[in-house]
Amino acid sequence: MNKQTVQCLVQAVQKLSLSRDIETVMFIVRTTARKISGADGATFVLRENDKCYYADEDAISPLWKGQRFSIHSCISGWAMLHKQSVVIKDVYNDSRIPINIYRRTFVKSLVMVPIRSIDDPIGAIGTYWAHEHVPTEDQVILLQSLADITAVTLENIKVYNELEERVKERTRELIDSLNREKEMSAMRRHFFSMASHEFKTPLTNILTSTALLESYNNEGKNADKRAKHINRIISSSQHLVDMVNDFLAAEKIEQGKTDIIFEWFNVKSFIKAIMDQTESCLKKGQNLVYAHHGDSHILQDKNILRIVLLNLLSNASKYSDENKTIEIHTEINAGKLTIKVKDAGIGIPKEDQPYIFNNFFRAKNTTGIQGTGLGLHIVKSYLELLNGSIQFKSRHKQGTTFTVTCACPKLKNIVNFSSSSLLT
Ligand code: ATP
Ligand code: MG
Repeated sequence: MNKQTVQCLVQAVQKLSLSRDIETVMFIVRTTARKISGADGATFVLRENDKCYYADEDAISPLWKGQRFSIHSCISGWAMLHKQSVVIKDVYNDSRIPINIYRRTFVKSLVMVPIRSIDDPIGAIGTYWAHEHVPTEDQVILLQSLADITAVTLENIKVYNELEERVKERTRELIDSLNREKEMSAMRRHFFSMASHEFKTPLTNILTSTALLESYNNEGKNADKRAKHINRIISSSQHLVDMVNDFLAAEKIEQGKTDIIFEWFNVKSFIKAIMDQTESCLKKGQNLVYAHHGDSHILQDKNILRIVLLNLLSNASKYSDENKTIEIHTEINAGKLTIKVKDAGIGIPKEDQPYIFNNFFRAKNTTGIQGTGLGLHIVKSYLELLNGSIQFKSRHKQGTTFTVTCACPKLKNIVNFSSSSLLT
């Protein structure tokens, strides 16, 4: 073994230890293989399952770069499958050589060494001569050493890339959670500034009504005034409670802390109960009409659907004038529930329509109408939990129709199921 050859191998080892990608490794290996064996060409072959991929080459004229051959029909495949090096003095006189693919090349003799990993070889290094040539045993040992170092380098690159990928993934996760945290704190800030504004009206109502109550006795004309102020206090307090509940619900959904409990229930009775609950909150002369089509029962989360519907009905009433009708349609078809809430109210201006499901968004035609802009955001987030969806059609000053759809959950996806509700 001459000193120059050993030096060449040592240099290759140094360069390989610093390599971070396979292209650099292939470059170092093919040039070093050629140098230490004095060959006319060298190839770098990678195993791809049952194929040998001739990934790179360094030769006096083209060999097979970019081509793939069956592992059972080429000599690199033979070296990988037998996990041993092979020396062929005359390619035209060896049954393992697919001679047709050699004919158009300069190759007359070759050495192929497998790149051995802990398991099966992951590739091979080929060196070729244009004349009959038998390398010394030392040269074959050197080539095999180069292949072994290549195996270690490729293993290191794999680990390095996996680590780098994990670091990137972790960084992405951290950025995501940081952004979520930022969003939450922006939402909180927004809530507090909005709340201090929105809380003012009901709180002032409560305070003035309570002060006035003190001055009324409970007799004659004063009894009516008392009742009026008590109602004002109740509805203002309810409004405050609703606002706080909305905010808490939004935060709970955001943090993934909402439980889903599926129940088997009758949709018609369910809607009628909600209508009873809503009727007292409607404006003067507003009325609800309801129609249902299809099957009567469905398996769904009743509480979530109740919140969805209460929000849609509250909007339908709030954004419509007195004496207007609000229609509710439900349909169960092939396990899919569709709910429509249609009003003949102020509508949503076209330019505001893309944003109405955003937190705290309110269309510009709502000035003077109370609201926080949270309701629809909560509705949408709840429906996403049920794999459902919400759409709407609206025309300014003509009315709005919201359509909610959600399918019966697949049995395998059901985590909570209230079996007592089967009796409903
Ligand atoms: P709250 O959080 O108290 O429900 P809000 O009603 O303003 O307040 P959302 O229910 O989220 O908030 O609705 C967002 C916006 O969408 C409303 O401010 C309004 O501009 C518009 N909107 C929603 N429903 C209707 C409707 N039926 N008719 C007209 N505009 C609507
Ligand atoms: Mg609302």
